[in-house]
Amino acid sequence: MIPALKLNNGADMPIVGLGTWRAEPGEVTEAIKVAISAGYRHIDGAFVYLNEKEVGAGIHAMIEQGVIKREDLFVVSKLWNTFHLPSLVREACEKTLSDLKLDYLDLYLMHSPVGAKPGDELLPLDENEQMISDGSSFLDTWEKMEELVDAGLVKAIGISNFKRDQIESILNKPGLKYKPSNHQIECHPYLSQEKLINYCHSKGISVTAYSPLGSPTRPWAPKDQVSLLDDPVIKAIAKKHNKTSAQVLIRFHIERNVIVIPKSSTPSRIKENIQIFDFKLSDEDMKSLLSLNKNQREFAMHFASKHKDFPYDAEY
Ligand code: NDP
Repeated sequence: MIPALKLNNGADMPIVGLGTWRAEPGEVTEAIKVAISAGYRHIDGAFVYLNEKEVGAGIHAMIEQGVIKREDLFVVSKLWNTFHLPSLVREACEKTLSDLKLDYLDLYLMHSPVGAKPGDELLPLDENEQMISDGSSFLDTWEKMEELVDAGLVKAIGISNFKRDQIESILNKPGLKYKPSNHQIECHPYLSQEKLINYCHSKGISVTAYSPLGSPTRPWAPKDQVSLLDDPVIKAIAKKHNKTSAQVLIRFHIERNVIVIPKSSTPSRIKENIQIFDFKLSDEDMKSLLSLNKNQREFAMHFASKHKDFPYDAEY
């Protein structure tokens, strides 16, 4: 069984989950089935990945086959930017639930602090390639997310891609009902996020690391960039432990009490990515991995750099 971290709502969140961004609709149902059979109990999805129906189909196939029960699973989804207006939050969550064919989510995250103009376009851009704001305040969006907990649609709520000051403004919001249970951020040895992780942990907010392998196939990856998976320091640590680079990159988060969600649609890799509980990284390994930090952000959200709530204009 995959170990879990206790969230501030009392729920257990398995420390490794399966990522589903760019998991093609034609392959993600199978990937979910393989993952659940291999022992995964945590699935990370989002409305904007446009594959929630197929993710749900995989979950239901496993429930119908008696492999798991709904309550054994920890299912995460995210409120997309174009649904930040308070009038849209509940319907966005209901759409996700209906696509997944589930009655509740274990965790619903605000995908980012930047609200965008509602409509069919998921990334509405102006003539300067900047995302068009909806003028909303993420504090009002948060209040509507709190109502989802009270309505029983979600067990916990959290955030993603926020900076410290923005988290603080949620924590200091007058009348705050629920603190964020989780903050999902890009994190790997090239973007180690030490200050943000320490800050979240000090406030009782768990952290999930996305793109733990450096998201090697993201469409905008520079052709000449060395992939984390090929980094000589990581390869050497992997060799020493008789593990793969991917396994070292995933284990890196476990050593820091950080939840991690590698994505794969390849059965052998889905299995490989949870074979990480039979070894430990030493203090020295962790020191070497942390020394690779170069604050290299792959999901820089340049399209929102002029937005009033752009999160990446501060140190952390
Ligand atoms: P990852 O760092 O998880 O890398 C995924 C890529 O690595 C895929 O191309 C996969 O290929 C490949 N891969 C997986 N396992 C291995 C392995 N063992 N050896 C070699 N290659 C491997 O990137 P993601 O950006 O997908 O991040 C993970 C998840 O985090 C996402 O899927 C999503 O759920 C979440 N996320 C959240 C964001 C947010 O804003 N909150 C932003 C980005 C991601 P293949 O599938 O072909 O096996």
